[in-house]
Amino acid sequence: MAEVCVPDELQLLEQLERPVHGGDVHARHAFADLLRGGVAELAHGREHPLALRRDPQAAGAQGRCQVGCRVLVHPAIVGSVTAVEPASDAVLAVLGVGVVDPSTPVIRADDAGVTRGDGCFEGLRVVDGAVDKLDAHLVRMARSCAALELPFEPDAWRALVAEALAAWPHPGEAALKLVLTRGTVGYAWLTPLAADYPRLRRDGLRIITLSRGTTIDAFADAPWLLGGVKTLSYAVNMAATREAARRGADDVLFVSADGFVLEAPTGTAVWAVGRTLRTTPLGASGILGGTTQQRLFDRAGDAGWRVEEAAARVDDLHEADVLWVVSSVRGPIDVIELDGKQRVRRPDVDAEIRRLAGF
Ligand code: PLP
Repeated sequence: MAEVCVPDELQLLEQLERPVHGGDVHARHAFADLLRGGVAELAHGREHPLALRRDPQAAGAQGRCQVGCRVLVHPAIVGSVTAVEPASDAVLAVLGVGVVDPSTPVIRADDAGVTRGDGCFEGLRVVDGAVDKLDAHLVRMARSCAALELPFEPDAWRALVAEALAAWPHPGEAALKLVLTRGTVGYAWLTPLAADYPRLRRDGLRIITLSRGTTIDAFADAPWLLGGVKTLSYAVNMAATREAARRGADDVLFVSADGFVLEAPTGTAVWAVGRTLRTTPLGASGILGGTTQQRLFDRAGDAGWRVEEAAARVDDLHEADVLWVVSSVRGPIDVIELDGKQRVRRPDVDAEIRRLAGF
């Protein structure tokens, strides 16, 4: 392992052009090219620690560079380049390896999971050291893997989750991600609950509708579009979320080009009209089947609600009694503003739905 600590991009490149700490740096030119190709941009931001790492344990043990960026170089992994915030409070468990230091780089630069977003993942809620509806998530991950022609061993993932949980010391809620890349790197990543979730649960969501640009039936008979598959390709979803923030909203509801309600970037739309709960149909719409919505509908059906899938337009949502965005870790959050129009909150109905969903 060789380490350099450099104040700016130029020095970074200079450092990489010659052996570092006398180390065996065959790949330094490749690194330099890589840095010239864009990663060096990060070095301009003096706040970013930029790490090129190969040795998991050593990498995990490093502190932050005072100025500029820190670079750890080794020929074994050309371009394992990550702009890293220290993973101070996280558990990382790698399939086939077990629990490792959370700063360990586990994905190669040429893994299509990162170069093409080719892979799948799950986001799960942990409460007091237990995973909520693990079976439903593993069933969905198995479906994703089948659609992507990736291997999936449920027992291995169960064991991995158990290892991660055993290493998690905190009571209360946490978030668990299960990730599998095309390079067949699988890992479980366990972190505290996102800081803004308690506020959103309390205050509700202000959302805007954005078009996803395809019709409500765009995914019919087109399995290659991977409708309903929870792939790693979430850049569009994240861009939509940033657009919402730019417009002063908390979240997005995607609508089809022909005006039908689809889903949120990371959640399912559910709305109540009287004692009927509705959500968008799966299948041709291409939306993801939510495990939280499914549980909610199962339990609500038993509790006297009518539940149905219905293609709806945004006007139908304006007229609904309550509208929620529903997902595993955040839970059902009622929408208090839709496209700038205030909605009347219904705390009684909201409380019942949250309880039925397990929150
Ligand atoms: N729809 C999308 C696009 C999602 O990403 C998610 C969750 O991540 C959901 C819906 C909700 O799914 P779940 O309730 O299983 O978390």
